[in-house]
Amino acid sequence: MNLRCDLHSHSTVSDGTLTPTELIMRAHENEVELFALTDHDATEGLHEAASAASKVGMKFVPGIELSVTWSHQTIHIVGLGINPDDTVLNQGLKGLRDFREERGAKIAHKLEKAGFENALEGARKYSNGEILSRTHFAQYIVEQGKARDVRQVFKRYLVNGKPGYVSGQWASLEDALSWIHGAGGLAVIAHPARYKISATRLRQLIAEFKELGGLGFEAISGSHSPDEEQRMTQLAKQFELYISKGSDFHSPENIYRELGAMQDVQPGSVPLWHSTEWKDRIGDIS
Ligand code: AMP
Ligand code: MN
Ligand code: MN
Ligand code: MN
Repeated sequence: MNLRCDLHSHSTVSDGTLTPTELIMRAHENEVELFALTDHDATEGLHEAASAASKVGMKFVPGIELSVTWSHQTIHIVGLGINPDDTVLNQGLKGLRDFREERGAKIAHKLEKAGFENALEGARKYSNGEILSRTHFAQYIVEQGKARDVRQVFKRYLVNGKPGYVSGQWASLEDALSWIHGAGGLAVIAHPARYKISATRLRQLIAEFKELGGLGFEAISGSHSPDEEQRMTQLAKQFELYISKGSDFHSPENIYRELGAMQDVQPGSVPLWHSTEWKDRIGDIS
């Protein structure tokens, strides 16, 4: 019953360092049986990944990780089983990417005031041109020798309250779910233990997400501790959400967890890939 699966990962199309093909090869080497590429706000890697996966005989699910602003908080919603070419979804993505460009210029301006020259050009070198991420700014600052690693740059410069932070409006929760559903996919709340919100507000988020037709909860995430996985699994049960799991892999140098290397969904919880909705919309994986 416990398939070796990984339903959350990033490639060079967003802020990962492996190409979609390299990522598929690595997942296959790690004996992943069911895999999703979920780049931030971008579908460009999905055709390449699907064809690489079919060559090695690995089951592949086209996915995305959407940036959402909910109640003044940035949260991430993963969509699984989406049609990468859906027109409405891609129009929505264009809006998010335009915002990334505007935000990038503001971040660069602020970083320049903090003493980093040519931050925009520097960050762009790390982006393949599809999306501009804070991760790319972090990589540039590490390159400049101003921090040990990407994590340290976030802590010092890029999070709320630090000199390079810029706030803004991503997609609404309602739009994100309607784009995912319109493109034929299932929606999942990504890494729910990562948000800096109270337990009450997390419950409100889940209630609204369910109301909008959301089904999945990524209780098992490469970014969760065993204790967080336990708590998030209980929360999913209370709200009758299906469990999803994903490493959130970005790069071999900077791993939360290796591709596919997560614990099994606990007995008594239903994995998203066993749901009837998954069978109806994505297909039977057994
Ligand atoms: P953005 O969507 O451009 O605002 O960037 C968000 C991305 O930055 C996330 O998807 C992570 O990959 C990365 N990130 C966020 N916070 C941290 C952190 N504290 N340390 C390292 N990477 C982070
Ligand atoms: Mn990322
Ligand atoms: Mn995320
Ligand atoms: Mn992610």
